[in-house]
Amino acid sequence: MKYYQPAAAFRRLCDAFDQMPGIGEQGAKRMAEWLMYQSDAQAFLDTLEQAAAMPLCQCCNLVVEDAGHCPLCSDPERDAQTLAVIAETAQLQPLLDSGFPGQVYVLHGVLSPARRIGPSALRLENFFSRVQQQPPEQLLLALTDTVEGRATADYISRSLPAQRSHSLPFTELLTLPTTESE
Ligand SMILES: [Zn+2]
Repeated sequence: MKYYQPAAAFRRLCDAFDQMPGIGEQGAKRMAEWLMYQSDAQAFLDTLEQAAAMPLCQCCNLVVEDAGHCPLCSDPERDAQTLAVIAETAQLQPLLDSGFPGQVYVLHGVLSPARRIGPSALRLENFFSRVQQQPPEQLLLALTDTVEGRATADYISRSLPAQRSHSLPFTELLTLPTTESE
């Protein structure tokens, strides 16, 4: 016997959270419930709106305070001939800590038909025009070691016929020997 049917707005909120990677159905329900009953929903919306309006670096897609280039892309010390494509901003710091000397491009996700994330959602056009205008000697596709991550790396490789690229799991990129030594 069914006593409780969640309101339509609550179900839509659950569905929205469920679209996020790594949340899952139960996690989405907990987040929706917290947002509706325990948080200041307006403050949350304001924060979300401000975050969504942040510009991205024109070169690497990192979120930046002001439109233009991020400090990483503006750093002349970094090796512009080595470009690593990563899936998430969370991977950036471990990569820099590993001594990786090159530049990065952040996709902010991987292709996923199930979550309706296609090439346009990942702004791959920007990426393709960057590597065509300034082809790096070494293009490393260090995406998540999942079916979706591998499919994304494969899609990028196939879309760059003239560009030699090398796919490797992100964890492997962290262990690459660096050319620079103190
Ligand atoms: Zn940048």
